[in-house]
Amino acid sequence: MTTNGYNPYQHAISQLEPVAARLGLDPGIHAMLRTPRRELSVAVPFKRDDGTIEVVRGHRVQHNIALGPTKGGIRYHQDVTLDEVRALSMWMTWKCAVANLPFGGAKGGVTIDPKKLSLGELERMTRRYASEISAIIGPNQDIPAPDVNTNAQVMAWIMDTYSMTRGTTVRGVVTGKPIDLGGSLGRNEATARGVAILVRHMAPAYGMSVDNAKIAVQGYGNAGAIASTLLADLGGTIVAVSDSQGGIYNAKGLDIPALREHKRREGTVTSFPEAEPVSNEELLEIDCDILVPAALENQIHAGNAGRIKARLIAEAANGPLSPEADKILFERDVIVIPDILANAGGVIVSYFEWVQSLQEYFWTEQEVIDRLQSKALEAGEAVMAMAKQEQCDLRTAAYLIAVRRVATATTERGLFP
Ligand code: GLU
Repeated sequence: MTTNGYNPYQHAISQLEPVAARLGLDPGIHAMLRTPRRELSVAVPFKRDDGTIEVVRGHRVQHNIALGPTKGGIRYHQDVTLDEVRALSMWMTWKCAVANLPFGGAKGGVTIDPKKLSLGELERMTRRYASEISAIIGPNQDIPAPDVNTNAQVMAWIMDTYSMTRGTTVRGVVTGKPIDLGGSLGRNEATARGVAILVRHMAPAYGMSVDNAKIAVQGYGNAGAIASTLLADLGGTIVAVSDSQGGIYNAKGLDIPALREHKRREGTVTSFPEAEPVSNEELLEIDCDILVPAALENQIHAGNAGRIKARLIAEAANGPLSPEADKILFERDVIVIPDILANAGGVIVSYFEWVQSLQEYFWTEQEVIDRLQSKALEAGEAVMAMAKQEQCDLRTAAYLIAVRRVATATTERGLFP
């Protein structure tokens, strides 16, 4: 999404820069970390239902392999660009590193609005994209997962396409699969559950609590919808939510079970009764204690950061705050739980799914939830301790941990040849 002068890759680079300086990184190592290792851009031709051929663009970027095979989602969106996928792949590297997972970062994207496709068209497009990137993915190489507008069904098609070309079923090539095909229990809820676990655990350190907090959630996809439910279950009052069509607000709190049912039936939250309409921009500035941006990048920027009323922001989306917004919010004492920590629950349970797929031995949902909780809290504690020690914001602290881990691994491995 390289619109209005905003470039996500630049965003990612400028987050790395001050951390590299603070760590005193060797300029060569810094150059390695800012440069995606491998980028594949492909044409994706597929047949529409009327028999015509459409060609869209797809990408898969593997940012860094110092800590292991690469991992990261695949996004379908009309605004996907190579620079966006580069940024998202770099954020995956830091996310895996801060969560202490044995993975590097990758990301995929196809520039298409999948809501305009029939199920058959979506399947043909997915299979062709999967086949085009199949040379560089694999259970020991690069393991895709769902992201914006992709889901378990899309992962099933990717797994099947990859498996057909190998002549055997390869479960470990994707995570976020349907449970019947070896997906992990608890993976679908994992991103949101990680957000809820970390907000509940970290808020008290800053004099806040989820219980009775007024919460606004931007985005009602997999992360935003389930986070609304989990945060409401923890006693929070969800006062506003939105999706790509707009938002709704009720100062007394929205009936979340009824809202989920409404979204399932109508495909949007906007027509939900007993709520006032608000735009996606207005939602961000609404009177609330906790704000959960769970949509896309660059939603809070220099233009609106000064008007945010929340005291705590948990980034369920990747890159929702620009670096300028970070500065403004830090000066205003707004606590930001950064994306690479806040939404790491998704890739943490992806890691568990990958392990289960490779071992062909599957865990109970409670085991998954318990292990997610301990991994997420371990990362959260480490980030809070680093922020205290370094007297910095939580993003800088998370980056200090993540970048140091990747830089150390890079140095220890040495440079080939
Ligand atoms: N797309 C998710 C993310 O941005 C999950 C990635 C994964 O599970 O590999 O973290």
